[in-house]
Amino acid sequence: MQYTRFGNTGLRVSRFGLGCMRFPEDEKDAIEMVRYAIDHGVNYVDTAYSYENSEAITGKALKDGYRERTVLATKSPVWLVEKHADFEKYLDEELRRLKTDRIDVYLLHNLSHTHWEQVKRFDGLSFLDKMVEKGKILFKAFSIHNTLPAFMQIVDACDWDMAQIQLNILDEKQQAGIGGLKYGAAKGLAMVVMEPLRGGNLLNAVPKEVRDLLARHPEKRSLVEWCFRWLYDKPEVSVILSGTRTLEQLKDNLRIFDRARPGVMSGDDQRLIAAIRAAFEAQHSIGCTGCGYCMPCPSGVRIPEVFRLYNSHQLMKPGSIDTVFYKKSIVPINAGADQCIACGECAGRCPQSLDIPQLLKLAHAGLTEE
Ligand code: SF4
Ligand code: SF4
Repeated sequence: MQYTRFGNTGLRVSRFGLGCMRFPEDEKDAIEMVRYAIDHGVNYVDTAYSYENSEAITGKALKDGYRERTVLATKSPVWLVEKHADFEKYLDEELRRLKTDRIDVYLLHNLSHTHWEQVKRFDGLSFLDKMVEKGKILFKAFSIHNTLPAFMQIVDACDWDMAQIQLNILDEKQQAGIGGLKYGAAKGLAMVVMEPLRGGNLLNAVPKEVRDLLARHPEKRSLVEWCFRWLYDKPEVSVILSGTRTLEQLKDNLRIFDRARPGVMSGDDQRLIAAIRAAFEAQHSIGCTGCGYCMPCPSGVRIPEVFRLYNSHQLMKPGSIDTVFYKKSIVPINAGADQCIACGECAGRCPQSLDIPQLLKLAHAGLTEE
């Protein structure tokens, strides 16, 4: 296992973090998996109030001395908070579930536009400071599916210790993306990456072109390994979370992370990833290249972003990440396709001759369907 610094906290963490959102069904297997990971060098364990049964099972797994060997991260369900005191009420419940008297890294969970408004309304930031003073938490953090400007605004709103963002070979420019990774790291935050395989969806719809590219590349690695390698190559990334469902998957991840050092990707490797990304993107149903010539829209629609989300959603179905992001972070700031008044200003500027107003209707329907 390879280790690295965790921002400015003084902690040293394994670059592989065990994500506890998708445990095996059998509790015994789940506990065995957590302990196997820790016995093989993993020292970062991530759970959340909202992951069904996960905190209770993690608490059992961390008995018998495993808690002391772990940097434990969990998350506040900010969307359930109805008054300031609720923040601490949920934290106390989490401490009981996890059978511990302290959370090492405590995150405000999923700061979409709506949830961030909730945090500001009920003063979630002063709650974090009070909990640090009381010793119930050690470090202040947040996880986010939001735009890059929103991410930067949140980073600047508090002296955070860590930020957790979605990043993978297809999401370089989605959500906080690479820009957010560099921004947070430059501010001294530990940067934790979630969804390295887009919730596993990246492996569900592998185009033939991608399989051919992998077969032709001189370095023989699986797509899973290339996805992780692309991430751990980046020195700004502290921990990459992987939610393994079986012991076999965990063992495979541990093998991959045995070499998880920054700077391992050659120029040829980077070109392979670019070609893989292009092969995935060639499957897109709306032929938007993201050039941005259609912008700005007088109604505030983020046209290329909406099309990118729709394409990604089509490719990864059934995956809810894009739809949740659209509904919680784009629509509430009036940047969604529903703001289009069909003025036609954009269409003449599109080099791909896309019927933008019509395609926006399609994208909005697709991204909001139940
Ligand atoms: S047609 Fe719609 S998306 Fe295009 S500029 Fe007008 S309002 Fe904006
Ligand atoms: S001009 Fe056309 S291709 Fe370029 S971002 Fe806008 S919709 Fe996409």
